[in-house]
Amino acid sequence: MRLILKANRLIDGTGAVPIENAAIVVEDGRISEVTQQDKLDTGDRDDSDVIDVSGGTLMPGFIEVHTHIHCSAQADAYRHITTESDEVFLMRGVQAVRAVLSSGVTTMRDLGSRNQVIFPLKQAVEDGIVPGPRMLVAGTPITTTGGHCNMFGTEADTSDEMVTAVRGQFKSGADWIKVMSTGGGFTPGTNVRAPQYPVETLRAAVQDAERLNLRVAAHCHASAGVRNCVDAGVHNLIHCSWLDEDPNGMFDYDEDYADRLAEAGTWVDPTLALGRLNQIRGRVRTTGGPMRDPVRRFEILRDMWDRGVKFVTGMDAGMTNANFDDFAYIPQVMVEDMRISPMEAIVCATQTSADCLGVLDETGTLEAGKAADILIIDGNPAEDIATLHTVNTIVKQGTVVKREGELLI
Ligand SMILES: [Zn+2]
Repeated sequence: MRLILKANRLIDGTGAVPIENAAIVVEDGRISEVTQQDKLDTGDRDDSDVIDVSGGTLMPGFIEVHTHIHCSAQADAYRHITTESDEVFLMRGVQAVRAVLSSGVTTMRDLGSRNQVIFPLKQAVEDGIVPGPRMLVAGTPITTTGGHCNMFGTEADTSDEMVTAVRGQFKSGADWIKVMSTGGGFTPGTNVRAPQYPVETLRAAVQDAERLNLRVAAHCHASAGVRNCVDAGVHNLIHCSWLDEDPNGMFDYDEDYADRLAEAGTWVDPTLALGRLNQIRGRVRTTGGPMRDPVRRFEILRDMWDRGVKFVTGMDAGMTNANFDDFAYIPQVMVEDMRISPMEAIVCATQTSADCLGVLDETGTLEAGKAADILIIDGNPAEDIATLHTVNTIVKQGTVVKREGELLI
């Protein structure tokens, strides 16, 4: 049966001017037509299922590039990840991917979960056993011995060990390689202000990943770690916090390296909504993270944006206070704090993130021939970005998973 979606306007994800009184025709899970309602040929469409949302906006499904599906997102997420069993992790994961999809995310990338949890879960979603978005997964992150996220990572110290770890993840079925290039706040005692790997070890990971047609995403807080990642040719930087090596300093922003990120076309996921959610949910941080000076942090991100750096939308969902249905906070914070336009933030959350993940041929924009990953938002997000919190209807690969406010999964 054909599915016809109608709404007051359509945002296609490319940044183009919205189409008024829009309609999309879906056949066999794919978009067959993007048009205006008065141009729809309804003559032979008596059997069509029609969803018509007055006041609504059609747009591509959200693309979330950074989750950890077996982390609990609660205040004691660290205790959970260090004490629970793989069976409990799997149940957390089932709940997480359902929550991700229910928020309007139709494609997600998991950037670090145990292999024995994430690979079966991805398979279960593809087989229709549990509901979830299209998934790309890194499996276990690669880190140093005792390094950031070692409790669910593969430990590798030398360049040879790094290559072995990359090949091990490839063999397990990873779609991406995740490397922890500096310490992280989630893992006590690791140093957020210092690199975990020298350039040559990161370069070994990039070269072997590229040989296997994979891309590398690297966690990096310290400026020295950002520079190492840029020098090594890492494809996607996570956090990119530019933290000063000196604990008495805050940031050590390097404009020349920001220009190099832009020139290389490196995608940056600044996980910028995480601080806001900690604020909203009342987390008191005892150690200094990048949000200790949020005003300067957003000035730096805005400067990177002005230099042409490509931003993608990752939450780090599963980390403390970052729930799996929080996606809409990311574009909201981009608009409110980075001061980019709602349409620019929407393009980051759809087309740019799909391009980063290597799935732009399949999804990320509303065009004939692509998979029918479509949302209807109540309201107009091009005018008020906060309306992205009110997802009326969700279609994933042609299947209606939320219909006019009612969740069907
Ligand atoms: Zn993460």
